[in-house]
Amino acid sequence: MDTPASSPALSPLDPISPLDDVRARIAQSCRIARRAPEGVTLVAVSKTKPAEAVLDLVAQGQRVFGENRVQEAQAKFPAIREAHPDVAVHLVGQLQSNKAEDAVRLFDAIHSLDRPSLLTALARAMDKVGRQVPLFVQVNIGAEEQKGGCAIADLPALLDQARDAQLPVEGLMCVPPAGIEAAPFFALLAKLAADHGLAGLSMGMSDDFETAVLLGATHVRVGSALFGARNG
Ligand SMILES: *Cc1c(COP(=O)(O)O)cnc(C)c1O
Repeated sequence: MDTPASSPALSPLDPISPLDDVRARIAQSCRIARRAPEGVTLVAVSKTKPAEAVLDLVAQGQRVFGENRVQEAQAKFPAIREAHPDVAVHLVGQLQSNKAEDAVRLFDAIHSLDRPSLLTALARAMDKVGRQVPLFVQVNIGAEEQKGGCAIADLPALLDQARDAQLPVEGLMCVPPAGIEAAPFFALLAKLAADHGLAGLSMGMSDDFETAVLLGATHVRVGSALFGARNG
């Protein structure tokens, strides 16, 4: 036996990477739900993680990332995209109206449209910048007091306003209440989207993205399952 000591063969017992694991679980959920895996976009939520962690996933083939703060994304992504122009970054966190223009310049999708004043600011920003950014309306699906998102009762008026302003609303987004089964909230969001003729469903995070895919998610936003626990 003269196996070179410096390059041991990969053992079948070597753990697969977190990215491969998440992808495999999405694919398995798609098989169960009889959905095409291409219908689910994995948004790798890299908030609090350094650019090196993003580049590590880029090297493994991941292309869509999510950030929850405009400033943090501005600090990380321009350099990454210079080297990898096909990398996309989505805003998954709350947006202040006075940052709408920065957001429209930087992000490839915004998942947190939740109020008329922000809608007006985004419409003005897209007009000024000359860039249409796909939007998801965030719904406060569990009617939680502290949570972002528009109330279910306010959704029809907000969607009407978006239509009048000719904004590219692709779908709905939610973060269900913590600590209880997410499936009923995902099902409710899917019903609301269908009622309004919207195809996009941004739902599902590290703990529940498989359930979300079974219930029709088109975008799952996964952070800690890919990057490990958050830094701060
Ligand atoms: C942080 C965050 C995620 C990712 O959460 P994990 O539980 O780490 O997967 C998804 N969506 C939003 C809106 C977030 O803020």
